[in-house]
Amino acid sequence: MFKAFLIKYAEIGVKGKNRYLFENALVDNAKRALDKIDGEFQVTKENGRVYATALSEYDYDEAVDALQHVFGIVGICPMVQIDDNGFDDLAENVVKYIEENYEEKNFTFKVMARRARKNYPMNSMEINAELGGRILDAFPQLRVDVHHPDVIINVEIRNHINIYSKILPGPGGMPVGTAGKAMLLLSGGIDSPVAGWMTAKRGVVVDAVYFHAPPYTSERAKQKVVDLAKIVSKYSGAMNLYVVNFTDIQMYIYDKCPHDELTIIMRRYMMKIAEHFAKQEGAHGLITGESIGQVASQTMQSLAATNEVCTMPVFRPVIAFDKQEIVDVSLKIGSYETSILPYEDCCTTFVAKHPVTKPNINVIKNSEKKLAEEIERMFDEAVNTAELIKIQ
Ligand code: ATP
Ligand code: MG
Repeated sequence: MFKAFLIKYAEIGVKGKNRYLFENALVDNAKRALDKIDGEFQVTKENGRVYATALSEYDYDEAVDALQHVFGIVGICPMVQIDDNGFDDLAENVVKYIEENYEEKNFTFKVMARRARKNYPMNSMEINAELGGRILDAFPQLRVDVHHPDVIINVEIRNHINIYSKILPGPGGMPVGTAGKAMLLLSGGIDSPVAGWMTAKRGVVVDAVYFHAPPYTSERAKQKVVDLAKIVSKYSGAMNLYVVNFTDIQMYIYDKCPHDELTIIMRRYMMKIAEHFAKQEGAHGLITGESIGQVASQTMQSLAATNEVCTMPVFRPVIAFDKQEIVDVSLKIGSYETSILPYEDCCTTFVAKHPVTKPNINVIKNSEKKLAEEIERMFDEAVNTAELIKIQ
């Protein structure tokens, strides 16, 4: 029934001279999303509006789902498209549209016509009035309310005519690819996939790095992270996932440094390695799923100590979220079920019973001196042996 979708976007509209860059990215990303499903689509930009038009049979639910994963889209309007065979034919089609799309015919409505083709024999006001009358003739229980209608029947007169009234929600945000790139530290938990998703939502391309510690962490734990990367990439697009073997570094720190500082020192090395891959990928920052006070390594002092090794900005989108708020997002984006699978994470084997909660940078740096040159060699080895998994 619906041959096309009108794609609504919001924030892009205020981007001034660069607006076309955002619109083009939106068009490309929508096209790419629709390419993945059965059926052929054309995505076009006309007079500040973006349309996705089906050129073949397609599955409606699949198409809506694909568009609901494209950042930048705030609304998706399924449209009936008809040829212009005169006003009577248009009126019949509008009545049929209401018949088929609204079970309960007891709402208020108004007609909103737009005449993109000015040689149509009636103007918008005349179309509104005349169509309103025909609708009331067909469904006497309906009422017109021009100020607060329950339903707005949109009629766009172009070379063909579009009829639509429903807006399905899009994911919002900005088109991915319009705001540079960042490197996500992706673990198997709940928080980091949400942090990656939130950053991608602002138009950022996301690559990721995962630290595993075989044999202390299993192949299944790694697979879980790959699965999480796929869930995020359904929104953020193709992703390079670096899997770094962190075992030697972890063991070595465990051997040489005070155990209550272990997590902080380990996390400093994670950041350094992540930054290495970020530079290699041309990324502009790092992303973590840290949230103030969630665990000992996420107190203000711990965050400062971890941050101290970074030369790039570190983005922490969930920094001020409560756990439940993060869970709510993960449920919405579909990562929660995977995140709660019980496979052990990188650090559990080595975690101290009483980690420092207020690390002192100088004390930490002093402990790190004991790692000497050996840690440099291990750093290089971890970086050089990392596995690159191309997601999508
Ligand atoms: P999450 O729920 O996001 O997995 P967490 O609750 O396990 O985090 P921490 O272990 O303190 O909390 O990790 C904080 C952040 O550090 C994570 O959100 C993630 O960005 C990064 N991180 C932790 N462990 C790893 C890992 N093994 N690989 C990659 N990044 C990690
Ligand atoms: Mg966490």
